[in-house]
Amino acid sequence: QGDTATENITDAPHYLAEALLKNGVKHMYGVVGIPVTDFARIAQGMGIRYIGMRHEEDAVNAAAAEGFLTGRPAVALTVSAPGFLNGVGALLEATTNGFPVIMIGGSSTRHVVDMKEGEYEGLDQMNYAKPFTKESFRLDKIEDVPLAVARAVRIASSGRPGAVYLDFPDGTVGQTMPKDQAEAQLWTPVDPNPAMPPAQASIDKALELLAGAKHPLMLIGKGASMAQAEDEVREFVKATDIPFQPMSMAKGLVPDDDPHSTAACRGLALRTADVVLLVGARLNWMLSFGQGKTWNPDVKFIQIDIDPNEIDNARPIACPVVGDIKSAMTMLNEGLAKTPFKASAEWLQMLQADTAKNDAKFAPKESSDTVPMGHYNALGAIKKVYDRHPDMILTNEGANSLDDCRNIIDIYQPRHRLDCGTWGVMGCATGYAIGAAVTTGKQVLYIGGDSGFGFDGMEVETACRYNLPITFVVLNNGGIYRGDFENLGKDGDPSPLTLTYDAHYEKMIEAFGGTGYYATTPQEVEDMVEKAVSSGKPSFVHVQLADYAGKESGHIGNLNPKPVVGPL
Ligand code: ADP
Ligand code: MG
Repeated sequence: QGDTATENITDAPHYLAEALLKNGVKHMYGVVGIPVTDFARIAQGMGIRYIGMRHEEDAVNAAAAEGFLTGRPAVALTVSAPGFLNGVGALLEATTNGFPVIMIGGSSTRHVVDMKEGEYEGLDQMNYAKPFTKESFRLDKIEDVPLAVARAVRIASSGRPGAVYLDFPDGTVGQTMPKDQAEAQLWTPVDPNPAMPPAQASIDKALELLAGAKHPLMLIGKGASMAQAEDEVREFVKATDIPFQPMSMAKGLVPDDDPHSTAACRGLALRTADVVLLVGARLNWMLSFGQGKTWNPDVKFIQIDIDPNEIDNARPIACPVVGDIKSAMTMLNEGLAKTPFKASAEWLQMLQADTAKNDAKFAPKESSDTVPMGHYNALGAIKKVYDRHPDMILTNEGANSLDDCRNIIDIYQPRHRLDCGTWGVMGCATGYAIGAAVTTGKQVLYIGGDSGFGFDGMEVETACRYNLPITFVVLNNGGIYRGDFENLGKDGDPSPLTLTYDAHYEKMIEAFGGTGYYATTPQEVEDMVEKAVSSGKPSFVHVQLADYAGKESGHIGNLNPKPVVGPL
């Protein structure tokens, strides 16, 4: 009799799951509780793969990784107030990085929250989410489900991608609607991320500037990875011989071992280039705002970006090219017939000579068998393994573990590296690893420092529970930056930077059924990481470094203000 009463109606959780499925959402990463527990069960039952995470920040990061890898938003799910707030930081990270993601937050009874009666986990979540997202909507009634999902998908994935928040209050969870009516109202947006070609005049001007340059350089950012513009970018390099500098998440768009790469002679390339073609990279702190000693004082920038607000963000841009990268690069390639341009052999040779010099300087550090290890020889050993498995997706966080890994481990395919991103945040890369493994099914290699890993390390349990092909590598030097800072207190407590040096992080995964390894020499690192990644199973390699390995603040010590009077 229950069946006849419900057979012609749907309820909000079913309807929302159906709308998400219709819109191509395949995965939901979340932490359940009141009022969305049944929603997660229902979505799973209807065919969305649900990945239960251990923290909402990691859930959002996993979904955002999927957005970066596919260009389509996945969903992160949270409970009300505290769960919601745990996810919000990562929502803003995703928006800052330009990754599409949708977070659905269950929330408490609207009118009780609005009257401040003291509701269980009562928070005006839709409004709290606004400054942290591209848009924030509330599902006040079941009839709004199709509209909310269609708008969320389009807004998250078009223009500069980013995060959208959908608030799902408990009052709506219980609402119903006739099934046939619900069915008839569902829709999927036509072309949620349409091409937006730039003006032809801006392309013509760009090519004229490049053709007149003595030292042209292409600077490729993660926007080009998001745009999936690898074919167009590779074609341009091939046709013009233009040298390129990859930003960290653009590595692999053109393989790192391409002779046009300036990754190993970055300083010289940026200092000397007179016309720079920015392809989906912002002139933010990572590029010294396009100013100062990093750059040739006479440099002119051509900037391809989908977001006109980005142009002139910190300095004048000689040639804005506002539009999507795939279209812009296609038009640049086509324009070469009319305005031919080729980088000179002298310019390339000058850069390649500097690369060879730098490679020769660093090679002995990377292949050294000094023990206890430092970041260079530990990562040099891991590089050998990565080169044998170049289809692995690398996720990376830390200070020195980030900076040195970015320089040492070459990437050969697009969208195979995810890291701390535009903000340099910690606590992102285990979530990224889960998202990358679920999205692609490929082997994932996580590399983090002991501090960076600590922010989101509980996700090793998630990796084991879903039997994901992730190898976690933690480079342990016993602290934030390093482990040998002196305790300046009178109490015998460790320094504010110190973490446990005599640790066995690999035991964490053993607690959940994964395989752990403990490596103290470069040879052990190579053998154990090889074994771990070849297993295709959740695995963990603790790499024991010296406590004096690494620099305070890694490669960005210049951002660390020094107090005038000093620490004591
Ligand atoms: P990186 O950190 O690698 O330098 P940024 O995140 O700073 O990269 O810059 C990426 C830029 O790419 C952003 O300004 C963003 O607006 C832009 N972008 C993202 N997707 C596209 C696209 N499809 N077409 C054009 N620009 C894009
Ligand atoms: Mg450390």
